[in-house]
Amino acid sequence: MKIQMITISKPLISEEEKMAVLKVLDSGHIVQGPVTQELEKMFAKECNVKHAVAVTNGTAALHIALHSAGIVPGDEVITTPFTFAATANSILMCGAKPVFCDIEPETFNIDPKQIEKKITKKTKAIIPVDLYGHPHDYSKIYQLAKKHNIIIIEDAAQAVGAMIEDKKAGSFGDAACFSLYATKNIMSGEGGIVTTNNDDIAEKAKRFRNHGQGDRYDYLELGYNYRTNDICAAIGVEQLKKLEMFTTKRIMHARHYDESLKHIKGLILPTTKKGIRHVFHQYTIRVTKDFSFSRDELKDLLKSEGIICGIYYPKPLHLQPSFSIYKYKEGDFPESEKAAKEVLSLPVHPGLSSKDIDVVIHAIDKISKIRK
Ligand SMILES: *Cc1c(COP(=O)(O)O)cnc(C)c1O
Repeated sequence: MKIQMITISKPLISEEEKMAVLKVLDSGHIVQGPVTQELEKMFAKECNVKHAVAVTNGTAALHIALHSAGIVPGDEVITTPFTFAATANSILMCGAKPVFCDIEPETFNIDPKQIEKKITKKTKAIIPVDLYGHPHDYSKIYQLAKKHNIIIIEDAAQAVGAMIEDKKAGSFGDAACFSLYATKNIMSGEGGIVTTNNDDIAEKAKRFRNHGQGDRYDYLELGYNYRTNDICAAIGVEQLKKLEMFTTKRIMHARHYDESLKHIKGLILPTTKKGIRHVFHQYTIRVTKDFSFSRDELKDLLKSEGIICGIYYPKPLHLQPSFSIYKYKEGDFPESEKAAKEVLSLPVHPGLSSKDIDVVIHAIDKISKIRK
């Protein structure tokens, strides 16, 4: 008998996406055309911001946002080492220096209490990451940014639809970046969006994505080819229409896990801070030493039951060879290092049924009762 796998992510493509793509293919207008514009308009509305600029992917969005906000070689940009590499790579792409700051254990994001001591004369920006779909607490960062004249670039790649009170992710910084990569909460195959309320940043972003052109063939500065195309944008438009449905399902699955796993010894379940709408890009638990197996053993045992879990992220960025020139070492960011050893993301995507979630819960429960 073939085992039915429960995967960690799955793009949900149906008739609407397929029809929309065919329509673009028949239209003869493939690159950065009317559908891209439609996606931008919808995205700006979704985040309640003035501008959305559609680009190739989330990494490009970060590069563009930093560049357009004026980050240049020699600048320092503060961010978390406990994130996807793209967050910090975008800083390197601008020739600037990533300055890491440890995370707070509850939300896995930069600890606002530790940021100020990382600020120097060279600090130009902070990139908070709304990790796993839980928006960062921006109130403290706003104060610091104002006091030290620092720009905030929100990495909202995992947080589309998330909220703090009545404000949407994508509206918390001077600019924000989204990814529409295939595994994200909504996707377009590959894709990215820069959102901002700042007219100047929006104009520079549009220029930078297309070879630095002002008017056609007027090259005002170095730019890249970071354009998107209407084939991907068409998928994005249809996905955005389903965002609320997808998000509601993720939150429902998360509640289901919360209720059923809270009694299991040695597991720490995700926290949602007051006033926050967590959109559960990942439902990430900590497997502590009080659990009957190590995190990696639990992952393997679940895999043997056909349940695929993820580890985001197994090694913090400050310990990666690509950042070794900055001479960070083990022990520099203890909370990030501890999280990297403990985190396990359980399947929570909207393609799963509540029965699938029960399968995961029962498997974890069973494993927790095995005597080694
Ligand atoms: C996915 C992701 C990115 C990069 O997006 P791509 O579209 O893959 O380039 C950046 N930051 C975070 C936190 C992400 O999860």
